[in-house]
Amino acid sequence: MSSAGYEPEAASATLPADGASGAGPAIDPRAATEGLDERLAPVFEAVIRRNPGEAEFHQSVLRVLETVAPVVHRHPEYAEAKLLERISEPERQIIFRVPWSDDSGRVHINRGYRVEFNSALGPYKGGLRFAPSVNASIVKFLGFEQVFKNALTGMPIGGGKGGADFDPRGRSDAEVMRFCQSFMTELHRHLGEQTDVPAGDIGVGRREIGYMFGQYKRITNRYESGVMTGKGLSWGGARVREEATGYGCAYFVAEMLTTRGESLGGRRVAVSGSGNVAVHAIEKVQQLGGRVVACSDSSGYVHDPDGIDVALLKEVKLAERARIGEYVRRRGRRARGFAGGSVWEVPCEIALPCATQNELDARAARRLVDNGVITVAEGANMPTTPDAVRLLREAGVAFGPGMAANAGGVATSALEMQQNASRDSWSFDHTEERLIEIMSDIHAACRETAASYGAPDDYVTGASIAGFQRVADAMLALGLV
Ligand code: NDP
Repeated sequence: MSSAGYEPEAASATLPADGASGAGPAIDPRAATEGLDERLAPVFEAVIRRNPGEAEFHQSVLRVLETVAPVVHRHPEYAEAKLLERISEPERQIIFRVPWSDDSGRVHINRGYRVEFNSALGPYKGGLRFAPSVNASIVKFLGFEQVFKNALTGMPIGGGKGGADFDPRGRSDAEVMRFCQSFMTELHRHLGEQTDVPAGDIGVGRREIGYMFGQYKRITNRYESGVMTGKGLSWGGARVREEATGYGCAYFVAEMLTTRGESLGGRRVAVSGSGNVAVHAIEKVQQLGGRVVACSDSSGYVHDPDGIDVALLKEVKLAERARIGEYVRRRGRRARGFAGGSVWEVPCEIALPCATQNELDARAARRLVDNGVITVAEGANMPTTPDAVRLLREAGVAFGPGMAANAGGVATSALEMQQNASRDSWSFDHTEERLIEIMSDIHAACRETAASYGAPDDYVTGASIAGFQRVADAMLALGLV
């Protein structure tokens, strides 16, 4: 093993390179529309025509359209009101320049985005992502998924997403602060606790939220706690928010397994990523009795057959922001590190993709199936390519889409807004109880909805339709807006 803690690259499909877009296989519009219901095909064609080259956005719209055909048949009023056309067009898209200077005085220009997708159920709500790959397509796909995910939580929140093509990795604290301040100097005019409430995502954690909230407070001269979520505990944050997406994903998986008469106890689990979502998913899975034997970052993956040491992983990845190879170096002989390669090579019964979009492709899915995987749940947003989803479902693997499985984060953000509005602060246990309840309700909504459309075990259908119907009914009630 090298001093970086890695063995030579494993002979396998390499995940998209650090900072790569993670774009899925380009969709062939003709083939995709041919497979769609005749009422939906023109909707998809229009989305492709009006958003050229936005592969991730096309992919996420197709994923929803493919599942809602039976709803449109049952509810002709949706088609009459052109609901699908309206729902796939963001209410507002903001693109702006973010100038900032680095520690040596060099000037940099980045591009900032906020897509305010749908406010039928409440203020726009969704995170900000800082990563070099961020572009209009990625922000739109994330915003679109967010609309239905937020609806599925049952909380009064609309959907939006934003970010910038800025890479915080390798930047000093002072540089990150200057960037965040410049970003918020423009974004603040579009936000408000009743209007648009961002949170974190890839590259945006408590540090970045702090710098942005501080700038918002300074510019507006208002201590408007509810304008951002994911805040620190001493300045308006909520307990469990940091853990919520990963914990929620683990609880969702536990529910999926219970439905099949199984449990996490003694199961081998592989998780991709080692950021906020991944680390907390690992922590909760292990608390619930599973054994997480592998995780990764954009430089490689670790195989730790005895189970990942979460405290060490938190120290290396969350506190020190180091490479995953450093975990291997400190863990000693128990763990093996692989530069590049795919974490899905490691045999497991449960796989939780928690890193980024389109990171689990058909080849990886095949390997998982051959190795005996029984459940896959998405901690990340759209990490599984359409081919991989198809392959897993055909192989009888229970598949939990991110729209449902990672909704615990935004649900707990809504709990943070609730606490901010009432100037209250709940205990960890109380908040976690609420999270468990919400994940269980989401699971039940997915299954009940899927069953009512004749596909009881199909979480993709259940999640899309349950989320879609809540938004669609609210949009109908609000008139042509
Ligand atoms: P973080 O920035 O905290 O962590 C991202 C992790 O993924 C890092 O470990 C990163 O590695 C790794 N990663 C990035 N690209 C790749 C790649 N190509 N291959 C392997 N690993 C990779 O982000 P989050 O944990 O917050 O977000 C992860 C996913 O979860 C995203 O899809 C996000 O949209 C989704 N999500 C997040 C929520 C939240 O509350 N934070 C809520 C709902 C969904 P490295 O350290 O090398 O950069």
